[in-house]
Amino acid sequence: MRNSASAYPVLVVTQLSKRFRHGNEAVEAVKEVSLSLERGDFVAVMGASGSGKSTLLHLIAGLTAPDEGTVTIAGSDIFAMRDHERTVFRRREVGLIFQAFNLIPSLSAEENIALPLLLGDGKDGKQGKERVERLISRLGLVGVRSRRPDAMSGGEQQRVAIGRALVTRPSLILADEPTGSLDSVNGRKLCENFAELCHEDGAAVLMVTHNPTVAFHAEKVVVLHDGRVAHQCRTKDYGTVQEFTCDCIERTQAIEGAVQ
Ligand code: ADP
Ligand code: MG
Repeated sequence: MRNSASAYPVLVVTQLSKRFRHGNEAVEAVKEVSLSLERGDFVAVMGASGSGKSTLLHLIAGLTAPDEGTVTIAGSDIFAMRDHERTVFRRREVGLIFQAFNLIPSLSAEENIALPLLLGDGKDGKQGKERVERLISRLGLVGVRSRRPDAMSGGEQQRVAIGRALVTRPSLILADEPTGSLDSVNGRKLCENFAELCHEDGAAVLMVTHNPTVAFHAEKVVVLHDGRVAHQCRTKDYGTVQEFTCDCIERTQAIEGAVQ
């Protein structure tokens, strides 16, 4: 069973804004962003470096507080919660995957994947063990399950990070450049695997990526520019990944050009 009540959209973001101070200057990292994700949705966030992608993900994860706007996950306004309540809620409802894998160096692949279950209420028992087994097998980690991160390849570490994010069956997966440290073949394989696993679980996914080939796995693409949503499209409106990639390049040039 999924964690959250399915009567609500998994994620609703309304008019979210976040400013940072750099000396006397204020940078509007995220500006009036609104979006919503239902169960099973897979949305990619693209945009140039500094366009606010990571800040948006951190706001949605409740790791950074917004200046304006709301983030509602499975019907709960996360910034109306106390800090501790939000941490417990995030552990249960949100799976986080970062480009730097953030694995615990002293734990094996299997222990890293199982860690969120141990941090939870510990009631997962047998079901939790089965879930860990299934993820190890589906992510192709059987041969390295006892290895620590320093004895694994980048691709293996990233798969462990994905297993750890999915182990509690969160309703929302937030991924920041999940294939950013991998070469293109490994990146593509990992992305296919990741999309399939999330789809089976019915989780909603918001994935930041620079790479149009990776973004093409999503159904919907949101492009940020200077913290704002500059463009949105559906990948099914493109015949091929090449067509989509060309359009991404042209649009990026048009968006960047329009502000010069
Ligand atoms: P992206 O992930 O698209 O590269 P970021 O969200 O990291 O973009 O950054 C958006 C803008 O906000 C940038 O101008 C960046 O310098 C600024 N920024 C991000 N995080 C912080 C922070 N913690 N403190 C100050 N400025 C920040
Ligand atoms: Mg970033």
